[in-house]
Amino acid sequence: MDASQLKILLSKLEGFADPEPRLEQYVTPSDVAARFLNTVRMQVDGDELVDLGSGTGVLSIGAAALGFTVRGYEQDPDAIQVAEQNLAQAEEETGELDVTFIQADVEDVDDEADVVAMNPPFGIQDDDANLRFLEAAFSVADEVFALLHSSEAKRDETRQFIKEFASNRGFDATVFATYRFRLPNSMAFHEREQARIGVDAYHFTR
Ligand code: SAH
Repeated sequence: MDASQLKILLSKLEGFADPEPRLEQYVTPSDVAARFLNTVRMQVDGDELVDLGSGTGVLSIGAAALGFTVRGYEQDPDAIQVAEQNLAQAEEETGELDVTFIQADVEDVDDEADVVAMNPPFGIQDDDANLRFLEAAFSVADEVFALLHSSEAKRDETRQFIKEFASNRGFDATVFATYRFRLPNSMAFHEREQARIGVDAYHFTR
């Protein structure tokens, strides 16, 4: 499946029924997800992929459509329910996909995989949220691909901080793409940033 087919598949999936601001729930836009996952597929040899904060399943389902065996961890049972429906819907087009959604807090994840691919909470509501996700990802795999929020005003500072955070844990970090996308109205409390948000795509390698 190429990136444009993947984008179409993912664009048909349902979003959060009732987004929870505290959990920073928003769906990765299908075009961003397709490009991001394509890079992951091209760079990783193994087949086991973990998605942390899998939400409504966009990244998990997309990764499975590219051939990965996927475990998606998500705290919110309502989101998992939507993800399961999305999985069933996608499978009508693709045939069986190897995805398991597991309800868990990211801090309780105890797993091993070839790669983690994730779009965690931005850490706007809770400053440490994305760092807790990174920490968890580093415990699961030697290769981590992550979409992390990067406000334009603080871009260099944020990148420097993330690189140091990774380096202290034995990981090299590179930013391989920067995406800008519109946040849904459910996140309009982000005032200044409500219109468009910048997201850096990171590749971490141990
Ligand atoms: N990865 C999905 C959803 C991104 S939104 C996508 O790309 O579309 C971030 C997700 O992280 C939400 O689904 C939210 O419920 C989940 N989340 C937030 N805090 C969490 C935690 N502590 N443990 C597990 N999941 C969490």
